[in-house]
Amino acid sequence: MRIHRIFTRQGLRPGHSVTLPAEVAHYLTRVLRTVTGQNVILFNGDGSDYTAEISGFGKESVTVAVRSALPARTESALHITLVQAISRGERMDLTLQKATELGVSAVQPVFSARTEVRLNPEKMQRRLEHWHRVIISACEQCGRACLPVLHDPAELLVWMQQKSAASRVLLTPAAGRSLAGFSPGAAVEIVVGPEGGFEDHEFEALTRHGAVPVSLGPRILRTETAGPVAIAIMQAVAGDLA
Ligand code: SAH
Repeated sequence: MRIHRIFTRQGLRPGHSVTLPAEVAHYLTRVLRTVTGQNVILFNGDGSDYTAEISGFGKESVTVAVRSALPARTESALHITLVQAISRGERMDLTLQKATELGVSAVQPVFSARTEVRLNPEKMQRRLEHWHRVIISACEQCGRACLPVLHDPAELLVWMQQKSAASRVLLTPAAGRSLAGFSPGAAVEIVVGPEGGFEDHEFEALTRHGAVPVSLGPRILRTETAGPVAIAIMQAVAGDLA
């Protein structure tokens, strides 16, 4: 039987029980059809998986007894930040889901000149919460016990001025150099444009701030394809896909 992985923000310690809230109880009973006595895995982003047993369902909660901690070996040695121009609805969800599965360490959403999505603060807050949920479900599914960091959205031109020790690549269809031949070092920032690409002044500013233009080959990929492909290539170079 498949053992379900469940994320919680609570501290987890073998020998201690935790009480998980109504939505988890509902998910366990109605969606997964689990019963008392069944084993699940809990994780809270601290890098370990915790084996646990469902000890009882309350009216609005479920109690789970934590048995043992097991360090998960699902993180890449390469620290990748995906700097993604915010794309519409499902496209951004796809990017976040795939980037998480492929082991990205952080995602920095950015607004650029051709970003079509502009949200007021309240809607942006809701969108961020939604993106967090997308990342959490991807971690539950793919076995990661560390959540990639989701940075607050920033303006591209502001973000690029931050000092960083990471090497920085700018995905550009017309670049003369391939990403596959790029040595990322210990940390890399991968900058991906929006559906309409970057404007010339953004391209120039990015390269002035150390971004190396690199190509993913002769076909133009959709923005939600480009990021995950680039992450996969960098992970292959780093030996993480073995
Ligand atoms: N018409 C736009 C294409 C945008 S595609 C242009 O010519 O720039 C959206 C983003 O995906 C691009 O800004 C780029 O960052 C990335 N991308 C798509 N295909 C790519 C390729 N073959 N090589 C490198 N980056 C690519």
